[in-house]
Amino acid sequence: MSYLAKNYNRKKISFKYGKGSFLYSIDGKKYLDFVQGIAVNSLGHAHPQLIKTINKQSKKLWHVSNAFEIPEGEKLAKKLAKKTFADYVMFQNSGTEATEAAIKSARRYFFSIGKPKKNRIICVKNSFHGRTLAAIYASGSKKMTEGFGPKVGGFDHFVFGNHKSLKKKISKNTAAIMVETIMGEGGIKVIPDWFLKELRQICNKKNILLILDEVQCGIGRSGDFFAFEKSKVKPDIVPIAKGIGGGFPIGAVLMNKKVASGMTAGTHGSTFGGNPLAMAVGNSVMDIISNQKFLNNIKNTSKYFLSNLNKIKDKYPNIIKEIRGRGLLIGIQLHTDHVKFIKKLMENKLLTIRAAENVVRILPPLNVKKNEIDQALKIIKKVCSKIN
Ligand SMILES: *Cc1c(COP(=O)(O)O)cnc(C)c1O
Repeated sequence: MSYLAKNYNRKKISFKYGKGSFLYSIDGKKYLDFVQGIAVNSLGHAHPQLIKTINKQSKKLWHVSNAFEIPEGEKLAKKLAKKTFADYVMFQNSGTEATEAAIKSARRYFFSIGKPKKNRIICVKNSFHGRTLAAIYASGSKKMTEGFGPKVGGFDHFVFGNHKSLKKKISKNTAAIMVETIMGEGGIKVIPDWFLKELRQICNKKNILLILDEVQCGIGRSGDFFAFEKSKVKPDIVPIAKGIGGGFPIGAVLMNKKVASGMTAGTHGSTFGGNPLAMAVGNSVMDIISNQKFLNNIKNTSKYFLSNLNKIKDKYPNIIKEIRGRGLLIGIQLHTDHVKFIKKLMENKLLTIRAAENVVRILPPLNVKKNEIDQALKIIKKVCSKIN
């Protein structure tokens, strides 16, 4: 029997090791891994540079308290600030901690300027911001919150795409609007640039902070370092996690000067957040992904992958409803249930993962090779032809 709690519905498969885009199971099978720990292993499995970094740092220093200065963290924060809108960075260990800290930062800012009642956060109904108590109530999903009351207050929700409903929710007590730039768990739904611009305008007009959750779509996943860059919109707060650690748990909140002014000494903390081992890995991941050539390559790979997926869609319009996404955050929306389809892909040695709205979510490593994409396309085509 298993002594692990039953809070996951696990597939009956386990892996011995991974290399790049591939996972090797205990029973000797080789899988093309287009889940990559849900967009976490941004550089694939066992990347040589990350192995070198973690080996080197593990011999020097793993952990010291945030009561002391941590040069590796200073370095990573500087790189993130220089590359993005951010003036300051606050390190955490996971995505949900990052969204929590984003919410806290927004509220704390208004408190610090003498507006403590301006503390409500508007989010998209059935979005995903993580699993802590505040994050599940921010996500506004019945499934995630059921049985976990009393309700954490302070969140209002609007329906994705329904901008009238958003405007109705805004009040003088709205502190922030928090949305995923590209909804991941919610079904790979991209917020159009014009709407991001409109959000920014609304926020400016009503003195509201704009939080863009880039835990899943950030760190190169969209083909830009951040998914919002294309729109030219500057957010106030951006929680990140998943891809920045390349497999090592790292979260962070990026914020502008204004927001950071509220987070004075003692207002927030994390025992593990930003420790030297994590920061060393984060620096290596950042050096590779923030390179413009690397980002351009993601865009090219994405173009190739998306256009070929659309060809498959055109051939099997009765199976595939829509190809969604940007960069290497891709969804195949099916007309019918996605669970069977994902199982069939897995039987053919391609690992994918579900998202809402019958979407098969595809998350290759950002350095995936063209021939690996071809391999995946072949398997997807084969599964479509068998179902047909
Ligand atoms: C995964 C995710 C989170 C939560 O991250 P954890 O590391 O699982 O806590 C939050 N927001 C978004 C958009 C995510 O995709």
